[in-house]
Amino acid sequence: MYAKGHKITGLNLGVGWAVAVAANYQVSLLLAVLAGICAYVGSNAPDRMEMRWWDKEAGQMKSVIPHRTITHWFAMWLVLGFYLLEEFHDAPQTGALFLLGASFCFGCLLHVVLDMPNKKPIPLFLPKPSFCLGWWGSAERQYTICFITTILMGVYIWWELREHWDYVLQNPKEVASALWQRFNHDLSLLAQR
Ligand SMILES: [Zn+2]
Repeated sequence: MYAKGHKITGLNLGVGWAVAVAANYQVSLLLAVLAGICAYVGSNAPDRMEMRWWDKEAGQMKSVIPHRTITHWFAMWLVLGFYLLEEFHDAPQTGALFLLGASFCFGCLLHVVLDMPNKKPIPLFLPKPSFCLGWWGSAERQYTICFITTILMGVYIWWELREHWDYVLQNPKEVASALWQRFNHDLSLLAQR
């Protein structure tokens, strides 16, 4: 998948993840939003961490870390993500950084999973590029996948907030203003620290 596809699917993950965190953990709205942003950043990170540049003389893309190697290691993001989430579960009141780290790892994991159907291998369990499904090239089916992840995000958000929709639809202004106030309150608490 190319950068545009990773950005859209990352946005879907980030929004869904922010809702999941806000709905399931006793954390501030600010932290839930930051977790969503970290998931979005993570979903673009495996390519960015390779530090690529365009070599004019050679007429090709070069990178410090070879493409689809260590930064695309499936097992590493999976293990690290769940380890950090577990650390957060152990100490939710002081574990904000663990939650943000886990969110970043889950974003990276989505990136790697969406690169898997392409024809260039990525490292699966061992840190050596060894696995790809070879179903289609990086430029193909991006928008179909983005369409599917957007639908999945919508269905998830509808389901997660299913008990609140009646109230939200009847009082949209009150809900928006309450969320805005809560967000501002979290920000002002942060500023006082
Ligand atoms: Zn990639």
